[in-house]
Amino acid sequence: MTGSGLAALAGIGCGMAIWSLAEYLSHRFVLHGSESLPFGGLHRAHHADPLKTSAPARSAGHFCVAGTGAAVARELARSTNLGAAACVGVALGWSAGYSSYEILHWQAHHLAPATAAGLERRRRHLRHHYGGPATNHGVTFGFWDRVFGTDGPSGPTRLSNRNTPPWMLDESGSIASKWSQAFEVARV
Ligand SMILES: [Zn+2]
Ligand SMILES: [Zn+2]
Repeated sequence: MTGSGLAALAGIGCGMAIWSLAEYLSHRFVLHGSESLPFGGLHRAHHADPLKTSAPARSAGHFCVAGTGAAVARELARSTNLGAAACVGVALGWSAGYSSYEILHWQAHHLAPATAAGLERRRRHLRHHYGGPATNHGVTFGFWDRVFGTDGPSGPTRLSNRNTPPWMLDESGSIASKWSQAFEVARV
């Protein structure tokens, strides 16, 4: 592999790592921060109705984040010795990290998991929604929650019977037995 290829790969890794920290910090301190901060209202609406999805808002998010990454990469290339390949890699990794987060977050609410890692991601994120909003701020990874001490407890996530994700219910409306180790419903 050429030097610029390696630089691009390193840039992509850095961009994804930077995104994962930004995902944690923005969720914890902006989306759950002061009510005067931007996007908090959208996030509170998501907590109130996790199954409602706004495709235009999501699409706008992808364009805004990709545009921010591109602008930062351009500035990095102009003002540092990192080189164009590494800077483009950072922008790609940042954008790919955000898009992965959006897809995995949507899946957590709308799709049954296909892997143990997917089930754990859903258990953690739904705990954030149902009873532990000060914990589990990382949606893609739990890494930064463990670093900063906001990792929620392990064990089944208790859901209210309102807005229970349809993917985990059987025909009778109860949690399907295959998910009962990870989730339980508190009848209120
Ligand atoms: Zn959510
Ligand atoms: Zn939240």
